[in-house]
Amino acid sequence: MDSLLDKPIKYLPGIGERRAEALAAEIGVQTFGDLLMHIPFRYIDRSKVYKIAEIDETLSTQYVQVRARVREKGVVGVGAKARLALVVADDTGRMDLVWFRGARFVMSKLEIGREYIFFGRPTMFNGFPNMAHPEFEPPVVVEGQEPVRMQGIYSTTERLTSMGLGTKAIFQAMRTLWGMVRNAVLETLPAYLIEREGLAGRAQALHDIHFPASAAALQAALRRLKFEELFLIQLQLLGQRRVRTEKTPGYPMPKIGGYFNLFYRERLPFALTGAQQRVVKEIRGDMVSGHQMNRLMQGDVGSGKTIVALLCVLIAADNGFQSAIMAPTEILAAQHYRSIAELVDTTGLRVELLTGSTRKRKREEIAEGLLSGEIDLLIGTHALIEEGVRFGRLGFVVIDEQHRFGVMQRAKLRLKSQELPPHVLVMTATPIPRTLAMTLYGDLDVSVIDELPPGRKPIHTSHARESHRLRLFGFLREQIAQGRQVYIVYPLIQESETLDVANLEAGAEVVAREFPPPQYTSVVVHGKMPAKLKDYGMELFKSGQAQILISTTVIEVGVDVPNATVMVIESAERFGLSQLHQLRGRVGRGGEQSYCILMTGDKLTTEARHRMEAMVSTTDGFRLSELDLQLRGAGDIDGTAQSGQGFEIKVANLAKDGDILEYARGVAEGILAEDPQLQRPENSLLVEALERLNRNKQAEVDLSQIS
Ligand code: ADP
Ligand code: MG
Repeated sequence: MDSLLDKPIKYLPGIGERRAEALAAEIGVQTFGDLLMHIPFRYIDRSKVYKIAEIDETLSTQYVQVRARVREKGVVGVGAKARLALVVADDTGRMDLVWFRGARFVMSKLEIGREYIFFGRPTMFNGFPNMAHPEFEPPVVVEGQEPVRMQGIYSTTERLTSMGLGTKAIFQAMRTLWGMVRNAVLETLPAYLIEREGLAGRAQALHDIHFPASAAALQAALRRLKFEELFLIQLQLLGQRRVRTEKTPGYPMPKIGGYFNLFYRERLPFALTGAQQRVVKEIRGDMVSGHQMNRLMQGDVGSGKTIVALLCVLIAADNGFQSAIMAPTEILAAQHYRSIAELVDTTGLRVELLTGSTRKRKREEIAEGLLSGEIDLLIGTHALIEEGVRFGRLGFVVIDEQHRFGVMQRAKLRLKSQELPPHVLVMTATPIPRTLAMTLYGDLDVSVIDELPPGRKPIHTSHARESHRLRLFGFLREQIAQGRQVYIVYPLIQESETLDVANLEAGAEVVAREFPPPQYTSVVVHGKMPAKLKDYGMELFKSGQAQILISTTVIEVGVDVPNATVMVIESAERFGLSQLHQLRGRVGRGGEQSYCILMTGDKLTTEARHRMEAMVSTTDGFRLSELDLQLRGAGDIDGTAQSGQGFEIKVANLAKDGDILEYARGVAEGILAEDPQLQRPENSLLVEALERLNRNKQAEVDLSQIS
């Protein structure tokens, strides 16, 4: 235990009670060790001192340092508007400095006629540079302190800055801290690993990350710390998976019987794609193994996940087990129910639907059928996992569109079966980039359907603005004249659903004027409607009686109308990339050429423009989700992220460090293959590191207990 690193931060010279409280509240720093892990998000080269005349527009927003003499100083304005203004100059020009807070402190520290190093971000005003709240120090190096070459820029907050803990002050505190703790930093990785992987030692890496002597030293430090962070998480997740597959028994389902064979030979309306066949085999491998399955099935929208799940349901039924399919919305559950009931019609499989709006009578009937085992497959929303729903012999559970279901729900499902946990198959159309999937679902086995059914034409995507609306309506008329159907989707803006609906209804009125009955029928569907009306509207569209469906994102996932060929997304800039891709996946399901039209306002942020360009340029969901992570990751300045299991990721950036993550996973796999329980003496450091990781972990649920 590194006791010195556990010392409360208030004991660090210059911090004290009041600042310690603020540090804890603002950036979560409570101990010496926490501060040591507060890592710069950027570095500037402090060996460079700028001349004032060199400062121009191109340097604004960057940190620069200037060596200049104070010419004038004084307080300008009164009351709340009072500010301290300084004029400084070097031999090339003059610069204005201003402080809106802390004027008295600065006044007392800076003397007219003396020279200082000023450090801050310049802006240009009337052709002159100025800086607000620069940091400053006399131009001498204090004996015994680390010489500064590359200086870390630390994230801080308004409140901390006002208490004298700006980025520069944090840097100073770090110097003090390092002087105290340098000998207390212990190695966390085994020596053989450090040597074999050519890693920097931990103490060296922590020194270099705060006070790098060169760019190379900084790179080595980053690599070591990122590796350690990602490696330990992977070691933990892979260890969990090993425990699960080796120790959690599951129902063995060895038989392939009447249900499966009849369906496969006579009812399957098409040939499975190669990817579908492979994934069915992978799942079946788990089902016969005698261990509990926990598998994630990833497949882009339209890749045909439903039929794969259904085939596995039939295998479960052949072995005398019941199955459940859980969908995130009533519409989706009902849709699954209808299409599956139709597919298995006359195979003798009994399928029921249970949602929040199922009548009491029906509910009771279902409860009985579940207990007696007469019902083979129950499809529903999370009503499925409510109290009171009891299965006679639940053996297989499918969770559709997992991102709406949390760990807790998986936990509840686990409690639904009596003897052993059911096999669990999580299906997602969100193409999670490999790096993220590894961190989020490192404990699950993953199957990927990476092939679309044959005959699909790539969806043609375009980006249009309000001025193109008349052309848009003309295009929709053409498509409808060819017998096709159209989706028009409005975003849901969380703050006010009422406003959203108003927005939607205004749009619907315009559409109704442009596409008047009786020639055209348009229906409106949104989340605030009673379920009955929603279902009725969806039914009109599904049956082809309505040509236009205007909706909020209730249709986001899973709705299947192969005759719909146009997806119009209104205010597309409001949607994230993955959501846009999901929506686009609603079309292109039949053999006809399909279209996706992104309608946006005229003014777009750069980021929104990139999103639209990405959508237009590719229909590959995996590519898009990687772009998405990059676009969003870029906005995340200090690169911290939360993994799906509550481990905090401080140093690595999942958007950018995918290669280190994969590498670290490979190393973790290698170690566990040789020493599955981490019992060898040379791995004892790893056991300790995992214990620390779990102590700090924020999730309250231990996944190994659940899945
Ligand atoms: P998703 O993976 O998005 O859930 P679905 O399971 O809803 O996809 O399938 C999309 C559509 O493709 C459905 O209409 C389904 O019947 C059809 N489909 C699935 N597999 C095949 C296949 N191998 N060949 C042809 N059509 C298929
Ligand atoms: Mg689906």
